[in-house]
Parts: sequence; structure tokens; C-alpha cells
Amino acid sequence: MNEHANFRGIGINPAQKVDDGSYIGGGACTPDLSNEVTDGGSVAPRNGLKSPSNLDVTAGAAQQTDAAPVVHDGAIFTPIGGGKVGREGAPSITGDMDGVTVMKNLGLTPIQGEKFAHQARVSSPQMDDILGLGWPVLDHGFVRVVDYMGNEGAIVQAARVSYGIGTQSVYEDRGLLRYLMRHRHSSPFEMCEIKFHIKLPIFIARQWIRHRMASVNEYSARYSILANEFYLPAPEHIATQSKSNKQGRGERVAPEVALEVIDLLKADAERNYKNYEDMINPEGDKQLARELARINLTLNTYTEWYWKIDLHNLLHFLRLRVDGHAQFEIRAYAEVILKILMAWAPNVHEAWEDYAFYAHTFSRQEMSVVRLITEIAVNAGLTRPEVLDMARENGLSSREVRIFADAVFSDPKMVTA
Ligand SMILES: Cc1cc2nc3c(=O)[nH]c(=O)nc-3n(C[C@H](O)[C@H](O)[C@H](O)COP(=O)(O)OP(=O)(O)OC[C@H]3O[C@@H](n4cnc5c(N)ncnc54)[C@H](O)[C@@H]3O)c2cc1C
Repeated sequence: MNEHANFRGIGINPAQKVDDGSYIGGGACTPDLSNEVTDGGSVAPRNGLKSPSNLDVTAGAAQQTDAAPVVHDGAIFTPIGGGKVGREGAPSITGDMDGVTVMKNLGLTPIQGEKFAHQARVSSPQMDDILGLGWPVLDHGFVRVVDYMGNEGAIVQAARVSYGIGTQSVYEDRGLLRYLMRHRHSSPFEMCEIKFHIKLPIFIARQWIRHRMASVNEYSARYSILANEFYLPAPEHIATQSKSNKQGRGERVAPEVALEVIDLLKADAERNYKNYEDMINPEGDKQLARELARINLTLNTYTEWYWKIDLHNLLHFLRLRVDGHAQFEIRAYAEVILKILMAWAPNVHEAWEDYAFYAHTFSRQEMSVVRLITEIAVNAGLTRPEVLDMARENGLSSREVRIFADAVFSDPKMVTA
């Protein structure tokens, strides 16, 4: 089965690449990242992206057993000892030894070595399939999965360490994931990590960077020259200030006004970029430092970064940024990442939707109102079993039905299951 086709099936397609390394529809002057791999790696494509035609090569990386090189993140990897992959040219410390023997030779004897030695690194075929591919966002942006660690099995495995191996059969994996999510056990989700390469306008980067529980490395505009690429909203996204929400957009403007706005934004960005080029021109009369010259650039100029985050904090990011209150432009990125989450951890995604994204926490006062409503309904003839049946029909587990009953029935006689 073509897993990549599956991924397409949930609604996003990999970015198309053209020969010069820039996206179809992308502007000129994509930053040259070809030197991002220097230690024995091959030269990366100009924008750091791998073409979908390389997909099959990378997709095989997880199962690689022969000596064929693997293209991954712009570098060539060749299998070394035991079918593992390592950077070409790097000395192999393992030779033909298996990992346990290597650790032993280094003076480390694994605890319960026999028990765990057979456990391979967990992986997700869906994620292996999309590693390195870029997904277009806005007019010149993208989200690219560089690497990931763990899968749903890793979360379950970590959680079961807390419960002890003897209780393994108590929960089905999906049930355990739902239990963890419902009860906000966050550390098992932190066992999974994901690393993205993201290209985004600076005004969105400013919102994004507020999510502190992540690791970031950004393209340096002190060191390198920023590309002449800036975000221009599509006409349908150009709207007036909302009257009800001070942080949002209201009505769409008339088409001719939208075009006028786009022209204005474009002219400002182009003029400022021209001045920037003039200030940094090594042949010019100013020869200004890049760190100074950049300060006149418009906020819609694109930047790039690597962004690594664990799954718990990624879910937090998504809850805030997929939400309708988030600005459209950051939501566009969050929605692509959401699709990637669905491919990576579908049961986690489902549990997150049920217990976080579409869920609400009621205050004490709000709970009083809910209980009042239930009481009125019960006084009007709705029976307790009917309410509990409704809860079951809406997908609550038996345990959840009991918790729900405890919460919504004010009469103690009505609470006990
Ligand atoms: C719709 C929307 C509108 C916003 N508007 C504004 C605005 O007008 N102005 C503005 O300044 N910001 C605004 N923000 C940003 C917002 O206030 C948060 O900074 C941002 O959403 C990151 O959330 P976070 O701090 O929970 O995430 P992270 O920084 O990723 O942190 C995740 C969690 O880790 C914990 N944590 C992280 N750092 C610490 C710490 N130092 N101490 C203790 N716990 C910590 C917290 O539990 C936190 O929730 C807005 C965000 C949204 C989604």
C-alpha cells in the first residue's frame, strides 16, 4: 500500500518542486541553504527540500538493510553496522556489532538486556513516508517534517512503565491514550518529538515564537541576506477590523479595495527591499551591516526556522492556533501540522479532539447552571436512565458515564451509578 497516497487522502499534498529548487508559485530568490549540511553530506536542494520523486528512497530508510545510500534531509546516509544508517564518511564505531555488544564494550551493561534487546526503535511508516517533504502554506511558506521520534506505541509504553508491566492488559492502547489525555497525564506524550523546517512571514513568526516549550533555530538575517519574498494576502482574506472582536477581522472588503490593498502592500515591501539591497550592496556607497540594513524590511518578509517540539506541547500549540480565534495566517500553518499529527498519531488526535479541542471546562458557577438545567429536565419527566443512555449513545465509556452523572445530577440519589 502506498502510505503516501494515504497521507494525500487526508487532504494535503506535498509541495511541488520545480527544477531551480523553488516552489511552483513561489517567488524568486529562495534563500540558499545548500551549505546547511557540511560534514560529509551532499549538497542539499537550494531550498532544503527534497522532491517527491525522492520519496521512495527515503521511505525505505526505516527498513534499510542493504548498503544503498539513503537521501535524508539533504544528506547522504549509508547503512553502517547492523543495517543502521549513519552519515557518509563518519567513522563507524560499531563495525558489525549489534548495539548491546557495543555498549558492553564501552563498559555499559544493559539492565534486563535480554528483555529489551529485541526492541527496535519505534517508527511510524506514515511519518517515514513524508520525511523531508514540504507542504505549501500561504503564498511562499511551507511546513516540512525533518525528523520525528516515537509513535503512539512510545506513549503507551512510557505510560505502562508507571503502571508496571503486570497491568499491561488492563487497557487497550487506544483506551489508555484516551485515559491519559482525559486526565491530563502529559509526560507520556512528551516521549514523542517532531522537528519541522518552516518558512513563514515574520509577523507570524512573532506569534509562533511565543510558544516557549520548543527549540528553535532561525535563519540569521545578521549573517545572511533575506530573500525578496513577502506575504501578500489573497483578496478573499482582506477584511475590515472586526467590530465585535478587537483581535480579529470583520467583513471582507470590496474586490477593488482588496486589489488596492494588495498593490499597496506589494509596493511598500518592494520599495523597502530595494533600499535594503542598496544598503547592503558590497559595491555601493553604504556597505551597511546586514543586521542594520534589515530593520527597514516589512513584517510580511519571509523567514525560516527549524522548530522541534514534543507532542504534549505541540497539542497545546494546535489547541491555541487551530482555534478560530487565532489569526488566519498562523492557523493556515497549524492546520497543515494538524494533518501531519493525524498521520503520525491518529488515536492521539482523536483523543485530543474529544478531551481538549472540542471540550470545555466549566467553572463552579457554570456547573451550578448545568445542574439546574438537568434538574428542570428531570422534573419535567426525563429519567436518569434516559440521561445516562444519551451519554452512552454519544460515545461516553461506562466509566465516563459515571463521572458525568456525578457531575451533572445535583440530587445525591441521582448521582450513584
Ligand atoms: C488567540 C491568541 C491571542 C493572543 N494574543 C496575545 C496578545 O495580544 N499579546 C500577547 O503578548 N500574547 C498573545 N498571545 C500569546 C499567548 O499569550 C501565549 O503567550 C501563547 O499562546 C503561548 O502560550 P503558552 O505560554 O501557553 O505556550 P508555551 O510558551 O509553549 O508554554 C506551554 C506551557 O508551558 C508552561 N510554561 C512555559 N513557560 C513557562 C514559565 N516560564 N513558567 C511557568 N510555566 C511555563 C505553561 O504551562 C504553558 O502553558 C495570544 C495567543 C493566542 C492563541
